[in-house]
Amino acid sequence: SQDRVFNFAAGPATLPENVLLRAQSELYNWRGCGMSVMEMSHRGKEFLSIIQKAESDLRALLQIPPEYSVLFLQGGATSQFAAVPLNLCSPNDTVDYVVTGSWSDKAAKEAQKYCKPNVIWSGKSEKYTKIPAFGDLQQNPGSAYLHICANETIHGVEFKEYPVAQSGVLVADMSSNFCSKPVDVSKFGVIYAGAQKNVGPSGVTIVIIRKDLIGKAQGVTPVMFDYKIHDENNSLYNTPPCYGIYVCGLVFEDLLEQGGLGEVEKKNKKKAEILYSAIDGSKGFYRCPVEKSVRSLMNVPFTLEKSELEGEFIKEAAKEKMVQLKGHRSVGGMRASIYNAMSLAGVEKLVAFMKDFQAKHA
Ligand code: PMP
Repeated sequence: SQDRVFNFAAGPATLPENVLLRAQSELYNWRGCGMSVMEMSHRGKEFLSIIQKAESDLRALLQIPPEYSVLFLQGGATSQFAAVPLNLCSPNDTVDYVVTGSWSDKAAKEAQKYCKPNVIWSGKSEKYTKIPAFGDLQQNPGSAYLHICANETIHGVEFKEYPVAQSGVLVADMSSNFCSKPVDVSKFGVIYAGAQKNVGPSGVTIVIIRKDLIGKAQGVTPVMFDYKIHDENNSLYNTPPCYGIYVCGLVFEDLLEQGGLGEVEKKNKKKAEILYSAIDGSKGFYRCPVEKSVRSLMNVPFTLEKSELEGEFIKEAAKEKMVQLKGHRSVGGMRASIYNAMSLAGVEKLVAFMKDFQAKHA
């Protein structure tokens, strides 16, 4: 609408307008129950219906097999950097990490406190612009799991296919491409994601875990990090992030109404394609450093050949209601995050602006 901007932030990020309006209309008095979702007991029948619907819609979207549990937790994906090793291995176990950017690097470092992680591949020397060929991965025999970050939010590299863990299970941080496309959940032992990019507000962390992996947490694991506790209590061991779960539920409904994740992926591909073509077709005025075959559909980093113009680019774009285009402080340049809720119109407007800006400054 008129008074909203095109928000290209990496997360928290833009949410579907219809979801926001629906939440607004239900905020004061949820479906005639006389209170808002923020005021409800998490054990009352109203909230139970909300969390159960959220879970069943997410199961429908991702076709999550029955032998997997879905947990709605708190603490962000960052908590999962610790929860994964605490729950899946003992202190002396080795585990493998593929480091394709800042987030998988952080995950591997956190795991050092709880087990023996090996970084079996790192893209650091190539500034995190690649995903390794799976045949080149030297997985350690006996590793409890192989960890990847499915989409590196800062560097804009995305796995298009997934490696197979030779021993143990595959674990993926899907924070920034969760529900952006269909995923074969059965290939993974654990999938985790912070909600605040594609599916809701910050404060909700979703964990999808194969049930046989639950119940082996290290003795020192805090209850809040123990998957078994949350699984046995259907994510209601303690007070969950109720309002956030409610908004995630509205987003899941919206994604189903759009026709599911296959349809959503088509839209995401189209948006990414026009943005990357604009960059690649700019004769070097704009550049994306990421290898073409692994470019993220969600986070598009790019630089200006004339880097002195970056400040002006961001300022001028903001005047046209396109905000949050500054790249992450660790890599500089620009980054356009174009999650599910960014419309094609938003990306088209950005591309038109980029062409104009280039014409003015070439
Ligand atoms: N992993 C990825 C891929 C992310 O993008 C982020 C957040 N930007 C995190 C982990 C950390 O998530 P949180 O802030 O929810 O702890």
